[in-house]
Amino acid sequence: MYQKPKGTRDILPKDIAKWQFIEKIIRDTVREFNIKEIRTPIFEDSSLFLRSVGETSDIVTKEMYIFDDRGGRQLALRPEGTAGVVRACVENGLFSNALPLKVWYMGNNFRYENPQAGRYREFTQFGIEYFGTSDPSADCETILVFKSVLDKLRITNYSLQINNIGCPECRKEYNQALRLFANQHENELCEDCKRRSKVNPLRMLDCKKASCQEILKRAPRLEDYLCDSCKSHFNRVISLLKSNGINFDINTQLVRGLDYYTKTVFEFVADIDGKSMAFGGGGRYDNLVGEIGNANIPACGFGMGLDRLVYLVDDALLAKNDLIYIANLGAVGMDKVLPLAQVLRSAGLSVETNISGRTFKSQMKYADKIGARFIVIIGDDEISNGVFTVRNLNTGQECTVDGLNLVKYLKLTDEELKNIIKYADF
Ligand code: AMP
Repeated sequence: MYQKPKGTRDILPKDIAKWQFIEKIIRDTVREFNIKEIRTPIFEDSSLFLRSVGETSDIVTKEMYIFDDRGGRQLALRPEGTAGVVRACVENGLFSNALPLKVWYMGNNFRYENPQAGRYREFTQFGIEYFGTSDPSADCETILVFKSVLDKLRITNYSLQINNIGCPECRKEYNQALRLFANQHENELCEDCKRRSKVNPLRMLDCKKASCQEILKRAPRLEDYLCDSCKSHFNRVISLLKSNGINFDINTQLVRGLDYYTKTVFEFVADIDGKSMAFGGGGRYDNLVGEIGNANIPACGFGMGLDRLVYLVDDALLAKNDLIYIANLGAVGMDKVLPLAQVLRSAGLSVETNISGRTFKSQMKYADKIGARFIVIIGDDEISNGVFTVRNLNTGQECTVDGLNLVKYLKLTDEELKNIIKYADF
C-alpha cells in the first residue's frame, strides 16, 4: 500500500472546516487592509533562493528540494514565499505602479526538515509583503495585520518577539566583533557555528544547540553596534506598536533564519503541542529587491505558518454543521426530493438527499451519522397538505412547517428556534 511521503500530511474532510475557517479570516483581513493577492509558481530557479534566502542559511544549505528538469534547468520547490513574490513583482514591472504595493499570498512551501508536530516537509504559509515604503508605520501595519488575524481567531496565548538587526553597514563592524569572539571560543562551538563564524557570523545567534546558545550569551551585542538611522527606525516602530496597544518583548537574540532582513525582525511564538515554537515571523528587507532586480525598493512583510496556527484555534469557534437531510417517506420518490433540494440549495443551504435508495428508517440513522442539523421529511401527507415535518437532530424536537416558510425556518439559529417552539409550530 502506498504511503504519503515522509513529512507530508493529508488534511482530511473532518479537519478541513478549521482550515477553511482560517483561510476565510485571512481573506477578510487582507481585504480590510487593502492588500491584493498574488500567486506565483511553486518552483523557481534554485539560484533565486540562494541569492535571496542566503547561501549560508539552513534553508539553502540543508533544506531545499532541488531538482533538474528534463531541460537541464536547476529548479527548487519554494522553501518560502517572499523570493518568488519579489521576482514576480520585478519581472512584471509592478513597482512602476503606485507605491506602496501591498500583496499577499497563501500556498505550500517545502523544506527538508526533521518532521515533528508543527514541522513538516510540506507546509502552508500565508504571507504579506509591503513594497516601496521605508516608513516605520509600514512595519507596524504588517504586525497589525498579523494581530488582526489572531484577534479574529480568538488566539491570545502567544508572545510577539521583536528585534533590530540593523543594516549591512552597521552589521559590518558587528560581524567582525562576533568573528573575533567565535575565534576565541572556537573549541566550544559546534561545527555549524564554526563554519557560520567564517561566512556569516550573525547566523550563529540562530543556532539551535543549547551549548552554543550558552556561549553566545556572552558574545558582543548587536544593539551596541547599530547606526543612528537603524536605531531611530526601531524606536519609532516600538512606539507605534505601543500606541496601537500591541504587547511585545524585545529579544536581542532574534535574527531569523533568512539572510535578507534589515532593521526590524519579529516572530510570533506560542506553545504548539507542548513546545514553544514560532508560528509566524517577518520583518523589513530593504535590500532584497535591489539584489534580485536592481530596483532600490524598501520592503517589509511576514510569513504565517497555517499548520501551526491550526493548533491554536479552538474547535468551538467553528460554525456548527448546518447540513439539512431530506428524507423521503412512502411512495414519494426522488422526482419530488431533488427539486426540493435544489430550492433549498439555491437559498444557500447545504442539503443531502437519499441518493443511495435507503429505506426511511435507515435514512434517519444515516442523517444522524453525517451530523445533519435538520431532517426534512417529505411523504404523501406532506405533499397533499403543502407542509413538511422537520426534525431537529440537536434537540430531538419535531414540528410541522408550512412549505412557504421552510427556507426561513431552516435558517433560524438555535436561539431563535427555542423562542418559536415555545409558542407554536411555525
Ligand atoms: P520562516 O520563513 O522560517 O520564518 O517561517 C515562517 C513560518 O512558517 C514559521 O513561523 C512557521 O509557522 C512556518 N514554518 C516554517 N517552516 C515550517 C515547517 N517545516 N513546517 C511547518 N511550518 C513551518
